[in-house]
Amino acid sequence: MELCTLFSGSSGNACLIRCGDTQLLVDAGVSAKRLVGALRNLDVDPGELSGILVTHEHIDHIRGIDVLSKSYNLPVYANEGTWAAMEPKVERVALRNRRAFQRAQDFYIRDINVQPFSIPHDAADPVGYVLTSGKCRFAMATDMGYAHPDVLETLKGCQGIVLESNHDEEMLRRGKYPARLKQRILGRKGHLSNATSGELALKLAQSGTRALLLAHLSRENNLPELAFSTVSGCLSAGQVEPGKDIYLQLAPADGASALIKMG
Ligand SMILES: [Zn+2]
Ligand SMILES: [Zn+2]
Repeated sequence: MELCTLFSGSSGNACLIRCGDTQLLVDAGVSAKRLVGALRNLDVDPGELSGILVTHEHIDHIRGIDVLSKSYNLPVYANEGTWAAMEPKVERVALRNRRAFQRAQDFYIRDINVQPFSIPHDAADPVGYVLTSGKCRFAMATDMGYAHPDVLETLKGCQGIVLESNHDEEMLRRGKYPARLKQRILGRKGHLSNATSGELALKLAQSGTRALLLAHLSRENNLPELAFSTVSGCLSAGQVEPGKDIYLQLAPADGASALIKMG
């Protein structure tokens, strides 16, 4: 199984997961045109995708779904709460391509087992995903206000994880965002800071995670080198050496990340 992000951050998110002939997108948060370009750059025919999994209805996760699903006849998977919340923006997704799953109920898309899990975020019914094939387990965990203990339990044992490292708290507090927006981001249903991401990264590394892609970095309130140094500092403090004990990379805002490949 292999995974890479195609876009990451508040301007749009999409992640590609491949296992044999099964190819999935998690989120499609930039225009369909840009997604198609990014997929073709990786020699992926968009028409060959097995589906699009949606984490939640925020526009940076769903912007391209409508056109991409209609143009290539792709099934879209989301829970009922997310379907209801994103309804006006996905009118062109054909009825046959609307797949609703139950909360906390795993299901298969061809070769890949999909396990949605709840995340603390200010959306209707937001989820992350654990994607499993054989002994290989990958996870998507972004848009989280804090490291909920249930999320940590779910992520334990995943070898490769796309983990949010959204902001530096100091940069956010001093930055020019309005007070209300700062409160939202810092809140329990906002986004994960570099420091919290680092604490979580260490716990995950200690429970077997071998590769982390730091994702959903804020353009305003973070710097790639700061996210990387904060998380790698937390790992090193816990005797986990990035580059040796764990593979640590940043997910670029625009363009494919490094490929995480296992199994
Ligand atoms: Zn969100
Ligand atoms: Zn987001």
